[in-house]
Amino acid sequence: MLDKYNRKITYLRISVTDRCNFRCTYCMPAEGVKLMKHDDILSFDEIVDIAEQAVSMGVRKIRITGGEPLVRRGIIYLIEKIAKIKGLEDFGLTTNGVLLSGYAEKLAKAGLHRVNISLDTLNPEKFRKLTRVGKLEDVLKGIEAAKKAKLFPIKINCVIKENQNEADAVEVAKFCKKNSLKIRYIREMDLEKGTFWRVKGGDGGECSICNRLRLTSNGKIRPCLFSELEYDVRKLGVKKALMFAVGNKPKAGTVNKLLNFNDIGG
Ligand code: SF4
Repeated sequence: MLDKYNRKITYLRISVTDRCNFRCTYCMPAEGVKLMKHDDILSFDEIVDIAEQAVSMGVRKIRITGGEPLVRRGIIYLIEKIAKIKGLEDFGLTTNGVLLSGYAEKLAKAGLHRVNISLDTLNPEKFRKLTRVGKLEDVLKGIEAAKKAKLFPIKINCVIKENQNEADAVEVAKFCKKNSLKIRYIREMDLEKGTFWRVKGGDGGECSICNRLRLTSNGKIRPCLFSELEYDVRKLGVKKALMFAVGNKPKAGTVNKLLNFNDIGG
């Protein structure tokens, strides 16, 4: 699929839940956010149908996101189904890693190719403060489990305030080098203000070459993270919603005052 700026749209990020077991300070307030109604959430079979149609229209890369995708019960069933879609070349999942030690082997066996794991500091106290509830050691166990399950390349998403020379980012980079993990630096973004930067070590945030669409867990196809455009697959049908999203994909991101990161999976 080509959009009107001749960008080839080959990547679909699928948010399977808006729920998360962390409360990261740069993602949501301490009290959490108003969650989507359970009935509004897509079933696994609806998600598989959307993924199949998207691949038949040219999508080659799918990433499962959240909230935190591993909190959605039965996630392995979904991974098994999507992994079998003919034409899918790259199949990943982004996680905060805290449940990963119990899932890595099952995810690999189900056909997942690789994982991105969030890690912003190696200081247990800072980690606790940043996530408000998490334990660093659980995430480190998750990273070990992903290595054992060969979910390679394992990429580490390191959120930074301004640059990669910040003390925590330097420590995380050393850790990644020592453990043959690929680090990506994601500067803190603000949906409401419309502030974002290119991901260092990835190509997110570079509008001129943007190849992605997002599916929210309540069935909206969104052409851009920093836009309020969305197309409802249940109202329009999958093909039409995908085509409208590609046809109306903005040249560049502006602002998004409607959603939080946990709704759209970053
Ligand atoms: S802001 Fe929108 S167009 Fe730009 S890179 Fe992000 S999703 Fe793509």
